[in-house]
Amino acid sequence: MSDFKTKNCSQCAFSFAITAEDSIWYNKFDVCDPKLCPRCRAQRRLAFRNERSFYKRPCDKCKRDVVSMYSPNKPYAVWCHDCWFADDWDPKDFGKDYNPSQPFFEQVENIWRQVPKVALIHVRSVNCEYLNVCADNKNCYMIVESSNNEDSIHCYWIQKTRGCVDTSFSHECERCYESDDIYNCYQVRYSKGCHDCRDAYFLFDCRNCSDCIGCVNLRNKRYCIFNKQVTKEEYRKFLDEARLDTHTGVEKIQTQFEKFKATQPHKYAEAVNTVNCTGNYLKDAKNCIDCFHTYEAEDCKYALHAWRDAKDCVDTDTTGRGVQMVYNSHNTGINASNCICCAQCWGSMLLEYCSHCHDSQNCFGSTGLRKAKYCILNKQYSEEEYKKLKAQIVERMKRDEIYGEFFPPSSSAFGYNEACVQEQFPLTKENALAQGFKWEYHPRGTYGKETVDWGEISDSIRDFTTEDINKDIFACTACKKNYRIIPDELALYRKLEIPLPRVCPDCRHARRFVARGPNRLRTESCKCTVAHHAHGDAGCSITFKTAYPKEWNFLLYCEACYNAEVA
Ligand SMILES: [Zn+2]
Ligand SMILES: [Zn+2]
Ligand SMILES: [Zn+2]
Ligand SMILES: [Zn+2]
Ligand SMILES: [Zn+2]
Repeated sequence: MSDFKTKNCSQCAFSFAITAEDSIWYNKFDVCDPKLCPRCRAQRRLAFRNERSFYKRPCDKCKRDVVSMYSPNKPYAVWCHDCWFADDWDPKDFGKDYNPSQPFFEQVENIWRQVPKVALIHVRSVNCEYLNVCADNKNCYMIVESSNNEDSIHCYWIQKTRGCVDTSFSHECERCYESDDIYNCYQVRYSKGCHDCRDAYFLFDCRNCSDCIGCVNLRNKRYCIFNKQVTKEEYRKFLDEARLDTHTGVEKIQTQFEKFKATQPHKYAEAVNTVNCTGNYLKDAKNCIDCFHTYEAEDCKYALHAWRDAKDCVDTDTTGRGVQMVYNSHNTGINASNCICCAQCWGSMLLEYCSHCHDSQNCFGSTGLRKAKYCILNKQYSEEEYKKLKAQIVERMKRDEIYGEFFPPSSSAFGYNEACVQEQFPLTKENALAQGFKWEYHPRGTYGKETVDWGEISDSIRDFTTEDINKDIFACTACKKNYRIIPDELALYRKLEIPLPRVCPDCRHARRFVARGPNRLRTESCKCTVAHHAHGDAGCSITFKTAYPKEWNFLLYCEACYNAEVA
């Protein structure tokens, strides 16, 4: 087809397709064809996004010590949440005239350097210190990308949870621990991909199960151990003897569980109630192509975290809550629409090349604006002046074939190693610098200050009281970084009888993150050989797109075979 083009990515040199469908999108957004492949586009955006690397530093306005995503050595003014959101300053005071003889991206970067930054992004938080990209949380500690939670600690992308620790990508759960992708669960530990489960350990892809240990693909069961039905008494005896209150007990069951899980079918992707979608971790989605962790979304492509009524979002990371028509942007939420190449703009429409603008409309190349209209490089214009000057800049950018391209990597406020890009596209310092990204050298965390030797303390949580732990400093057995266990965290460990974690919160997060599989699809065929299925003895030949790497050796089943065995 003539409108199907292949291009070589200007960064990684791999060839990528621009399909007829892609061209329709680019025409709709009126942007140039991208020069970067979809993965390099995502990498570029994520390099501008620091989610979990926090530092203590003074607010440059009120001088209080605060937690910030900007390290103290950054060359910007960083203000605490209260100072930044106060009405006693106007980011438009930093406005500049557009200079046609200077590259546009350079001018945007100059504005960006001058306007104060907000230390952490969150709204309507009650009694929370360490949290970022969050709304409506109460008494939470170190949670990111989350809303409407209470008493949860060290979590990522959780919604409406209470008292969860080390839980990610989960909704409406209570008192769960070290779990990922769980919905409506209670007292579930070390589990993944479960719905409506309670009082369980090591579950994978289970529905409506309780009092189970080490089970995979179970539906509506109680008292099962490694998928075998036992009596209540047998279950109690096993649980007593397994000593899951100890580190040794947990490690032993975990090893057995991993072995057992490898023998069980895996659905090719976590996809629930989807129509015409490809990707992974999809729920209630329609026409979402190459999308990951996407739910209640429609007509999206190359999107990560497109959620709650996201529509027509292309090349986006975190777009949700009624967002429409957003292109090549990250964290553009709360009824935003018609935004191109924006970073962290909420409740805004018709913004292009803006960052950290809220409740604004028709702004271009601006930063830090609130309730603004018709601003370019933070300078106020009339509607006519705005339209005229914007058209002039866009025309120039189109001539340079950069209209629609995200900000250049050199203008990110963050080093590659502190932005969340490092999780998905890990690079060494040398490679990151060679690709034009920054690197942050400011130290984060301490090493060698531990007061506890793991070999010398009790293996069981039953031996610790709140007072014991408060003053202790631990060293991560994986990365050696020091960490503490906060009193509320210990309280949950004691309630749920979970041994103290021997790896630091960062390593715990990374472990769950890696277990989700990469955001990259490959074609694979169904591995089912169950003779009584429609495909018979010859085995199933259906192909699908999966994100699970070949080397994980999952027993991947197509939807029909998986449902025939499991549902
Ligand atoms: Zn590329
Ligand atoms: Zn302040
Ligand atoms: Zn660690
Ligand atoms: Zn099959
Ligand atoms: Zn089959």
